[in-house]
Amino acid sequence: GLPLAEADPEVHAAVTREIARQRGTLEMIASENFAPLSVMQAQGSVLTNKYAEGYPGRRYYGGCENVDEIEQLAIDRAKALFGADYANVQPHSGAQANSAVMAALLEPGDTFLGLDLAHGGHLTHGMRLTFSGKYFDAVAYHVREDDHLVDMEEVERLAKERRPKLIIAGWSAYPRHLDFAEFRRIADEVGAYLMVDMAHFAGLVAAGLHPSPVPHAHVVTSTTHKTLGGPRGGVVLAQGDLAKKLNSSVFPGLQGGPLEHVIAGKAVAFKLAGEEAFRDRQERTLAGARILADRLLVEPNVGVVSGGTDVHLVLVDLRNSEMDGKQAEDRLHRVGITVNRNAVPFDPRPPMVSSGVRIGTPALAARGFDEEEFTEVADIIALALRPETPEIGLDALAERVADLAESRPLYPELKA
Ligand code: PLP
Repeated sequence: GLPLAEADPEVHAAVTREIARQRGTLEMIASENFAPLSVMQAQGSVLTNKYAEGYPGRRYYGGCENVDEIEQLAIDRAKALFGADYANVQPHSGAQANSAVMAALLEPGDTFLGLDLAHGGHLTHGMRLTFSGKYFDAVAYHVREDDHLVDMEEVERLAKERRPKLIIAGWSAYPRHLDFAEFRRIADEVGAYLMVDMAHFAGLVAAGLHPSPVPHAHVVTSTTHKTLGGPRGGVVLAQGDLAKKLNSSVFPGLQGGPLEHVIAGKAVAFKLAGEEAFRDRQERTLAGARILADRLLVEPNVGVVSGGTDVHLVLVDLRNSEMDGKQAEDRLHRVGITVNRNAVPFDPRPPMVSSGVRIGTPALAARGFDEEEFTEVADIIALALRPETPEIGLDALAERVADLAESRPLYPELKA
C-alpha cells in the first residue's frame, strides 16, 4: 500500500502539524506525556492486525504464539514493577479498567464511595453521566476547606452510614499523597473492597518516589500513558484471589479483542519504567512541580491548592484573581504553554470557566527539562498569570517559551 502521505494527504498533514505543535510548545497538561519512540514503534506495528480474544495460552483464535509472548511479557513486567500478584494489561483505557473493576465487584445499584469530581476525583469515580454514576449508587467524599486534604473523617462517617461495597481512592487533580493504609482500615471496618486508581501517579510509584497503593488495596487500576509515559491504555493490578473475577470482567465482560499493538507498547513501557533513566526523569518531574508551586506562591492574588505539591502537578488557585481559569488557560496558550483549566475545591465560578488551572511537569521532564529550565518555565507562567501583563509582555514570554522548546528537541528521530 501507499505511505500515509500519499494514501491520505489530509490526515498526514494534520499529523505533521501535530508534531510541530508538540515540538514548538511546552506541554504541561498533567495527564499527558511523550511516549518514547520504542513505545510508538510497538504501537504502530503489525500487531494491530491480530485478533486474540482470551488470555495468553487460552485464546479463541489461532496464530497467537507471538502475541501470547508479548502479552505475557507485559503481564510479568507489570507485576514485577509494582509488586502485584496479578495484572491484566488488556483494558483499552483507564476508564475501561475502572469500569471492569466495578462490574467485577459490584451489582447494579450497589453503593460505592469516590472523591467528588469537583474536588479532584475522576469522572469514573461516580459522576452521574458515567457508567459509574448511572448504574451504581455513587456517594462522594470531599477535601477539607481549610487545608484541601481529603477529609478522612468524612470518608469514615460515610462508610459507616452508607455501608459501601467499594471505596475508591485516587484522583485526577489533587496535589498530595493519599493515606492508603487509612483507606484500607476504613474499608475493612465496613467490609468494603478498596480500589486505588493510581492513573496519575503510577510513574512516581514505579520509580519509588510515591507510596505504593499495591500492598494496601484489593485492586489497583491505572492508565499507562500519564506519568508512566507509555502508550494510551489501562491496566488492573490485584493481590490475592480476584484474578478470575477481574479477567472475566475485562474479557468478555466489557471488551472483545485486546489491542495487542498497545499491549506491546505497555510491555516496553513497563521495562523502561524499571530503569535508572526513568527514575531520574520522575525526580525531575517532582522537582519541576515543586519549583512551580514555590514560584506561584509568591505571586499576589495567586494561590496553590493545599499550599504546595508532593506530586507531578500544581493546582493553581485563582479564586482571588480577577483572571479566571478559562482566561488563564487562554493566556498560557497564547505564550505557547498548554494546560487545562480546572475547578478548585469550593470554586465559586462555574465549571466551564472555573478558578483554577492544573499544571503538570511529566511531559517536560520526558523532554529532558532540569531544575534550571523548570525555574524559567515557572517564571514565565507566573508573569503570564498577572492580569496586568500587557500584550507586548506576552510576546516576550512567547519568545522565552520558543527558546526553551528549541533547546530540547522532541523526537529528533522523526522527520518533518
Ligand atoms: N482515572 C483517573 C484518575 C484519571 O485521571 C483518568 C484520566 O484522565 C482516567 C482514570 C481515565 O483514563 P482514560 O482517559 O484512559 O480512560
